[in-house]
Amino acid sequence: MTENEFNGRLALVTGGSRGIGRSICERLAARGARVAVNYVSDEVAANATVDRCRELGAEAQAFGADVADPVAVANMLAYVRESMGPVDMLVTSAGVVSAEDHDKLDIETFQRVMRVNVDGTFIPVMAVKDDMIRRGDGRIVCLASVAGMRARARMIPYSTSKAAVIGMMRSFAAAFGPQVRVNGVAPGFIETDMTQGTDPRLVASMREDAFLKRIGQPIDIAETVVFLLSDAAGFVSGQTWVVDGGRITTP
Ligand code: NAP
Repeated sequence: MTENEFNGRLALVTGGSRGIGRSICERLAARGARVAVNYVSDEVAANATVDRCRELGAEAQAFGADVADPVAVANMLAYVRESMGPVDMLVTSAGVVSAEDHDKLDIETFQRVMRVNVDGTFIPVMAVKDDMIRRGDGRIVCLASVAGMRARARMIPYSTSKAAVIGMMRSFAAAFGPQVRVNGVAPGFIETDMTQGTDPRLVASMREDAFLKRIGQPIDIAETVVFLLSDAAGFVSGQTWVVDGGRITTP
């Protein structure tokens, strides 16, 4: 990968305002991409991501839209195309989590998590894929999670939603090839707003379990996403890349 790997190509990053999505925006900007930063409510954070991308020399703009609302996503895409041009690369990083014991879990919580994580992956991908196929090139990375591959007793909706993302991503890759490559990244525990408030004893045990003996940072995920979007990954599609310091492999 070169410093100017993306040479002015436009990337839309959902959930680009904070955490992993922000780091992805920054790494794309640093490698020559133009960046459309999506957010749902935290405009201040989205503008901070935009400022950071501009400091890195990239064109960047923030676009508010709920990724689970098809009308909002269609309007956002029209606005992105009008102000920045067609989308060459899409990263679906917007997501929500819930953590509760099964006896506290209700259908409303389940549907809220499924809506953002599953509908919120399906809708943006479906909104950009025809253009990518017509133009003969497109790259998509969907944020899944190790929770979609392993049992999570206190994360039944989240785990279900991320398993769905993995299946959806793989089927997208089959459907949109050869023009469009689609891959998934499955992070382990990463230090962001999403994981703030996790019991420190649990964090310590996750650090100990990882072969690399540390907790993941957003940049660990961003670098893998950027690789999958790059020409260097030109023969990679339909795969889920686990980025968790090796913890998933422990017995
Ligand atoms: P985060 O820090 O909580 O940030 C969540 C991002 O998603 C924010 O930018 C937020 O926008 C956006 N968002 C939430 N609902 C949205 C909606 N309906 N429409 C548009 N944007 C929405 O989360 P994170 O830790 O960076 O996680 C990013 C992705 O990685 C998620 O898909 C998550 O499931 C996945 N992941 C995270 C971890 C981890 O340990 N952190 C592990 C595995 C997988 P606002 O700023 O406007 O609220």
